[in-house]
Amino acid sequence: MSEHTVQHVATLLNSKDARKRSERTSMPPEWDLIVIGSGSAGLVASRTAARFGANVLLVERSRLGGDCLWTGCVPSKSLIAAAHAAQVARASGNFGVSASRVSVDFAQAMGHVQDAVNAIAPHDSVEALGALGVEVRMGEARFTGGHTLDIDGEEHQFRQALIATGTTPRLPTLPGADAVEILTSDTIWNLNELPGRLVILGGGAIGSELGQALARLGSHVTIINRENRILPREDPHASAILQASLDRDGVEVLHGRRAVEIASTDGIAGDVVLDDGRRIRFDRLLAALGRDAQLDTLSPRLAGVDTTEHGYVRIDGSLRTTNKRIWAAGDIAGLPKFSHVAGVSGSVAATNALLGLRRKFDDRAFRGSRSRRRRSPLSGWLPRMPWTASIACTRSNTPLSIARSPKETLTGSPRSSWTSADECSAEPSSAPGQERASEN
Ligand SMILES: Cc1cc2nc3c(=O)[nH]c(=O)nc-3n(C[C@H](O)[C@H](O)[C@H](O)COP(=O)(O)OP(=O)(O)OC[C@H]3O[C@@H](n4cnc5c(N)ncnc54)[C@H](O)[C@@H]3O)c2cc1C
Repeated sequence: MSEHTVQHVATLLNSKDARKRSERTSMPPEWDLIVIGSGSAGLVASRTAARFGANVLLVERSRLGGDCLWTGCVPSKSLIAAAHAAQVARASGNFGVSASRVSVDFAQAMGHVQDAVNAIAPHDSVEALGALGVEVRMGEARFTGGHTLDIDGEEHQFRQALIATGTTPRLPTLPGADAVEILTSDTIWNLNELPGRLVILGGGAIGSELGQALARLGSHVTIINRENRILPREDPHASAILQASLDRDGVEVLHGRRAVEIASTDGIAGDVVLDDGRRIRFDRLLAALGRDAQLDTLSPRLAGVDTTEHGYVRIDGSLRTTNKRIWAAGDIAGLPKFSHVAGVSGSVAATNALLGLRRKFDDRAFRGSRSRRRRSPLSGWLPRMPWTASIACTRSNTPLSIARSPKETLTGSPRSSWTSADECSAEPSSAPGQERASEN
């Protein structure tokens, strides 16, 4: 341990006494680390900080667990599991197994999704975090200065802070959009009736996975995709595999088309008008157009934290912002939008903040094939996720040489199992979380 790190550890050990002193006086409480946002990034960061013995406060304005638990990975993969069961049952005749007519109870399928969320939620509860030494405040955080924060009217001081406030789904700004209730990946989980005709704006990962799942459960799904292939950020052969699968499931994908207007008479169903004049009828409309940074009420500028032209927090290679006490991790830092990237970046940021380190966070292996070709010494074929890795491994029969490359380039790689030959022999299943940055 360097002398520098030893000093930081000594400061941490003294800080609990300092906080007790501030509690006895009228001074606002001072924390070693305040983490804003309890998604994958914030949760991992606060648990890491608590393990170092730091005084850590986690602030959350909505539900502990963030997007991945409530509206992202967990519900979407549970819905995909239900859809997969329906698809397997339908295809069982091909194997000589007879399943009589397959019927789907959509409300029950959504109940299964909710059960999966509810099974995981207790792991991220106030009690579970408290048991690890993380103090939690439910409330809206807002910077009031370079080392102060307001939480619903209560002032707090921090030695270090971490912004982990994530992103929100982008809504279309088309004529007529205000007059119709547009579903997003935040709200689709409240549906209890399967839409007969579902139109999805956007052919990225979220549009594709939700579209395929709902088609397998019985909706007629049309995806309007302004690019000329599905998953435009992935390697073309990955797009081709997914397109073939969507075709088999009866999902209609209109490539190279833009919606120019939404016309609805009852505020729920209606038509999407395309740039070629066609009208596509929908019972429900889902926007999967990408995600925007969630900094609306945080006032980062009051803390001297700059943002990028796309609205994300500006960070350096060690995840530090333009205020040297403040760090950012996860989706809000403009990193590839995956929960494991958020988690690892949260851990790196908390470690750097508390131990005075400058560990670099290298996310190149997670980026889309286009930007990987531009930014990385690795060539564009490198599979980004295990499920695509398994396809590549199966094809080339050289599992270790393929799988080792990304691991070696990663700082803090969350996937040590990429090298497993078993994984290389596994069939690719569903596509867990491709590039979330630009649904289109
Ligand atoms: C449909 C869908 C499917 C997905 N599937 C996958 C997948 O299969 N695999 C995968 O790896 N990734 C997947 N993702 C992406 C993954 O969910 C995100 O990358 C991850 O949740 C980002 O975590 P985060 O901590 O950066 O932010 P979030 O999870 O968004 O958490 C941010 C938190 O900050 C809180 N907050 C914001 N502002 C404030 C404030 N001012 N004060 C207090 N609290 C605040 C918010 O309420 C929120 O709880 C999916 C996403 C979606 C939408």
